[in-house]
Amino acid sequence: MDIGASRLANVELGQIRAVAEKARNLEKQGKSVIHLEMGEPDFSTPKHIVQATQQALERGEVHYAPTRGLLQLREDISRKLKDDNNINSDPETDIIVTAGASQALLLAFLGHCNPGDEVLIIEPAYIFYRQLARMTGAVPITIPTSQENNWVVDPNEIEKALTPHTKMILINSPNNPTGAVYPKEVQERIAEIAIQHDLLVVSDEIYEKIIYQEKGHFSIASIPGMEKRTITINGYSKAYAMTGWRLGYIVSSNDLMIPMLKVQQYSVTCIPTFTQFGASEAINGDQQCINDMVDAYRRRRDIVHKGLLSIDEITCALPEGAFYAFPNITKFGLTSKEFAEKVLNEAGVALVPGSVFSDVGEGFVRLSFAASEKALMEAIERMKICLENLVRK
Ligand code: PMP
Repeated sequence: MDIGASRLANVELGQIRAVAEKARNLEKQGKSVIHLEMGEPDFSTPKHIVQATQQALERGEVHYAPTRGLLQLREDISRKLKDDNNINSDPETDIIVTAGASQALLLAFLGHCNPGDEVLIIEPAYIFYRQLARMTGAVPITIPTSQENNWVVDPNEIEKALTPHTKMILINSPNNPTGAVYPKEVQERIAEIAIQHDLLVVSDEIYEKIIYQEKGHFSIASIPGMEKRTITINGYSKAYAMTGWRLGYIVSSNDLMIPMLKVQQYSVTCIPTFTQFGASEAINGDQQCINDMVDAYRRRRDIVHKGLLSIDEITCALPEGAFYAFPNITKFGLTSKEFAEKVLNEAGVALVPGSVFSDVGEGFVRLSFAASEKALMEAIERMKICLENLVRK
C-alpha cells in the first residue's frame, strides 16, 4: 500500500512546533526556557468576548450555522471592513467565516490554485504559504526582500518573476516574521502589476491591528479595480488574543468566493456556532482591549530592539508591526539553525531559525516579543552572556 497522497510528498511538517517541542524537552530535564518561538499573544481573550460566547452557549446556540457563517456576524464583519479597511463587501455572498486565518488560507489555495500555477511568495514568509502552494501542486516562487530595505518588497522583484504561469501574489503586511509594514505606494504598485497581468492577490492581514507606525494599516483590496481580484484574509487570533478559538474570515467578490465555498462546505460544513457570537462581540464591543495590548507590544518591541542592538555583532530592522524581531546574526559565523540551537541549549531562550521562513531568512532568527517585559529583558541578558562567550572563543 502506498501511504500518503503524492501531492503531499513535498509538504513539510511545521518546524516552529519542532523548536517548541525541543524547548519543552529541555524543560522536562529541569532547564529554564524563555519561550520566544511561538507567534502567540500571551494575553487572555478579553472578558466581554468570553461572556458573549458563554451566553450564546447557555441560550442553546449549538446547532449548525450557515456554511458561510452566521449572517449577523457576516454583517458585522462587512461593516468592520468598510470602516477599518475601506473594503466593500456584500455580507450575503462575499464573506466566509473560517477556522482561523489558517483555514482561510487553505480555502484560497484549494479554491484557486491548479497544478503548475506559480504563486509569488514574498520571503521570508509565513511558512503556510509555501506548503499550501505545494499541497495544491502549485509552484511557490520566491520574491526576496532584504534587511536594507526594512524587509519591504520591491515591486520590481515581483515584475521580474512574472511568467505566463503566474497565478497569484501573496502579501502579508504587517509581516511575519520580519515585522515589515508595506506602505500604501508599494501596495498600489503591486495592484498595478496584478491588474496589468490579470493576477490574483491574497492579502493576509491577520496583524492589521498590531501596528506601531503612525500611517496605520492599508488594505490592497481598497484600491479601485482590486476588489474583484483580491482575497483578503483576517482573523481574531492576534488582535483579540483568540488563538485557541480558531476564528477568522475570508472576503472577496462573489465569483471568487464560490470555489472557496465548495471547499468550506465539504470540509468543515460551518464554524462552531456559539463562538461566532464571541466574534461579533469582538467587533462590536469596546476596542480599548486592542489599544492596551498594542501599547504593551510597543513597549516590548522597544525593549527587545534596544536590547538586541546593545549586542555589538547584531543588527536589526525596527519592527513596524506584528510582534516579531528579525535580527541579523551573520557575524557569529553560525547558520541560523546552529545559532538558535546554541541559544536554546546554552541560554535557555527559544528562537526560530530564519531559514525556516525561506533561504532568504538564513543569517537571521525570529524572536517573538509576545512575552512579558521581564521575560524579554531576561532573555536579552541570557543571550548577551552566551554570545559574549561565543565571540571570545
Ligand atoms: N497568517 C500569519 C502571517 C500568521 O502569523 C498566522 C499565525 N501565526 C496565521 C496566518 C494564522 O492565524 P490563525 O490563528 O488565525 O489561524
